[in-house]
Amino acid sequence: MNRLVIATRNRGKVAEIAGLIEKLGYSVTSLLDAPQVPDIVEDADTFEGNAIKKAVETSQIVDCPALADDSGLEVDALGKRPGIHSARYGGDNLSDEQRYLLLLREMRDIPNGKRTARFRCAMAYVEPQSEPKLFNGTFEGKIGFTPVGVNGFGYDPVFIPNGYDITLAEIPPDEKKKISHRAKALAAFVDWLR
Ligand code: IMP
Repeated sequence: MNRLVIATRNRGKVAEIAGLIEKLGYSVTSLLDAPQVPDIVEDADTFEGNAIKKAVETSQIVDCPALADDSGLEVDALGKRPGIHSARYGGDNLSDEQRYLLLLREMRDIPNGKRTARFRCAMAYVEPQSEPKLFNGTFEGKIGFTPVGVNGFGYDPVFIPNGYDITLAEIPPDEKKKISHRAKALAAFVDWLR
């Protein structure tokens, strides 16, 4: 049976990705089953670079094909920040709520028409000894003026997807799973795997 290790310890991501790939006949594990793999430092300067780094290191240590992703929020008015630093925006010890409130403060003078933003996700698939394959997903929208909603995580309460007038934190999780940047990158990977 083909094997695949997902290079994450995030249970939500494992659940989202594993189900789809198991349907294609793969035996799927994750870093939750591989304590020998250290936390990989995400020090590349692109989403793609970080995803490749995580997939390559994991695939070498576990000796198995590996899939990794890296994602974040790009705000046009902030020169695409926080970008690859989304998880650490404002410092290491802030909560998700403190981070999105900081973002709203930084954007308080930016008018409605200039608040465009997108989530990006890069997914890298690596087989030992071969070139990585990359898959991308983007999710366009804008940043609101106040946080609304309780679903999801990260910047969801301040992100209003294009075509909606509610935030991502007001959209049911099952719907987000179909339209998000991660969903798009994963769909491209699954298509390729097929
Ligand atoms: P990572 O790819 O899991 O390292 O995610 C990086 C960071 O980007 C997260 O900690 C969040 O701050 C942000 N992020 C990525 N995807 C989403 C999303 O779907 N909703 C809200 N925030 C997200």
